Amino acid sequence: MIVNDFIFAFGICRSSVSLRFMTDTPFSSAKRIVVKTGSALVAENGKPRHEWLEKLASDIVALRRRGLQIVLVSSGAVALGRQSVAGSVANRLDQKQAAAAIGQLRLMSAIATAFEPHDVTIGQALLTLSDTEIRRRWLNARATLETLLESGTVPVINENDTVATDEIRYGDNDRLAARVAQMMGADVLVLLSDIDGLYTADPRSHPDAAHIPHLAELTAEHDAMATGANADAGVGSGGMATKLAAARIAHAAGCSTLITLGNRDHPLLSIEDGARATLISAATTPASARAAWLAGHLTPEGAITLDEGAAKALRGGASLLAVGITGVTGNFERGAAVALKAPSGKMVGKGVTAYGSAEIARVIGRQSDEVEAILGYRGRPAIVHRDDMVLVR
Ligand code: GLU
Repeated sequence: MIVNDFIFAFGICRSSVSLRFMTDTPFSSAKRIVVKTGSALVAENGKPRHEWLEKLASDIVALRRRGLQIVLVSSGAVALGRQSVAGSVANRLDQKQAAAAIGQLRLMSAIATAFEPHDVTIGQALLTLSDTEIRRRWLNARATLETLLESGTVPVINENDTVATDEIRYGDNDRLAARVAQMMGADVLVLLSDIDGLYTADPRSHPDAAHIPHLAELTAEHDAMATGANADAGVGSGGMATKLAAARIAHAAGCSTLITLGNRDHPLLSIEDGARATLISAATTPASARAAWLAGHLTPEGAITLDEGAAKALRGGASLLAVGITGVTGNFERGAAVALKAPSGKMVGKGVTAYGSAEIARVIGRQSDEVEAILGYRGRPAIVHRDDMVLVR
């Protein structure tokens, strides 16, 4: 794959949905899906909606049987904990944070119960904004979620509401889910809502509003349509405007977004049966979007020089290991963008490094099994993983 002067020929090239052509169902060519469910779906009057969660779990299990990887982003912590703090009036930030501490446990317990009959293990990840916005932390969060997926677990994500205050908050789980989709290279983001998609106006106040089934891009005109579409739902914090904001993040990451009504017998499988939804299809794949980001937006903070063998191996699709490194310049931390250079000094590519410059300097030319002994801990197997690299054409 060619991005400006860079090539990207391997790595995270999962097959991606080309929903623009709509010959298949939205999930048929996807490999990884992020599903987001709102508070109004998982909670009612401060109690978990067990029956609905069972339906959601059984759809997720059905999709997993087809080989799809699913990450669930669920709201509901505040809604399930609020009454234990100060009744339904717990609206102060500290009260909501305390409510989340109580409700998150109830939420996870209800979700675990729903997956129990299927013998599927779930794992909880509570994120704060910096986990997806700071590259060093993003590498950590992504590695953990990858490991959860590889081990057959369904990761269940929420914002870490108990500690996240305004400056460090995503603010709503639609955006959080989009960031997760971006971080994990998901093909489809499903936003399960209390409305079956985007309408030309709020259908509750404009009965003649028309449903929009498919968009290839989002414009200011769509934002204008989205104001107040579920503003009176009362339990969550997202509305159609935040859903479109989330869809924009996903779109830029090569991920399609589906906005649909969650309150159905088959919240996910019904989408394949043609249940009404708005699809905002991606114009590119997650792999191309990531490559374009690496190629275009990252200014190298340092450089790693490779030997001939490593330069060749990278071109063949390998990750960069310590053994192939002959030098490092610059002072950078783990998560930095670095230039990858051939012995001649010519740029081979660019990547996000899993080690800081001081650590790399200590393991130059060493075999992977020596690296752990030298550093005193076991880090990532590669200095720069192939998924985090673009090569110069
Ligand atoms: N993280 C919040 C919760 O679990 C919900 C945020 C949202 O509704 O978007 O209660």
